[in-house]
Amino acid sequence: MWRTGSRSQADLVEHLQHDLKLKSENVKKALLAVDRKDFCLVDPYFDCPQSIGYNATISAPHMHAMALEYLSDKLVAGAHVLDVGSGSGYLTVCMAKMVGSKGKAVGIEHIQDLADLSIKNIRKNHGDLSQNGTLTIIQGDGRLGYPQHAPYNAIHVGAAAKEVPPALFDQLAVGGRMVIPVGGSGGQEFVQYDKVAPDKVEKKRLFGVVYIPLTSVDEQLRR
Ligand code: SAH
Repeated sequence: MWRTGSRSQADLVEHLQHDLKLKSENVKKALLAVDRKDFCLVDPYFDCPQSIGYNATISAPHMHAMALEYLSDKLVAGAHVLDVGSGSGYLTVCMAKMVGSKGKAVGIEHIQDLADLSIKNIRKNHGDLSQNGTLTIIQGDGRLGYPQHAPYNAIHVGAAAKEVPPALFDQLAVGGRMVIPVGGSGGQEFVQYDKVAPDKVEKKRLFGVVYIPLTSVDEQLRR
């Protein structure tokens, strides 16, 4: 993680590429195409999370990059993908870019003002994705998923769950993959779940992370 040095999105992506050894060209392309300056107020090119209000943050660039990299095999043209706790909207746009106009990327965010803010952010340079129906931001409880566009080939959860909400397993396609931070406030692990059969998921622990909780609106605003 570096706090100074990157002066542009291209510069930031070059650092990420070097440090994380990203393998997917499509991830790199998506990160280059979506400029963080449209999604956060200060220091968009520093590799750290930034406040977006309401006790929420836009995740650090390396976390966005890693999440996309782990999901990259599933983020292909025509895929349906769900971004739970979409916050600033940054990652939902990257996912939408990767699945293209025949695909569907749904971001679900429970704070109405943040959902509105993300829609504003997206309009700055990626309004076409909303207009052609590739990307939709929904205000709602992401713990329930969004059955309307299920099953999903990829699910990203951007807030930490004590336990994986069952609806998210239900809405994952067979052959699909979910990445989710799991654990309590003391720290969590980033976990990958692959649905290998209708009633079978395979779990892989990836690495330790710190995310804000996947919770209710009241609980989040009380923190
Ligand atoms: N990927 C986002 C992460 C934002 S932080 C980004 O980088 O911008 C996590 C987000 O999850 C916050 O915006 C928070 O409001 C949201 N969140 C927490 N619990 C939620 C729930 N139950 N349903 C939907 N969104 C939730």
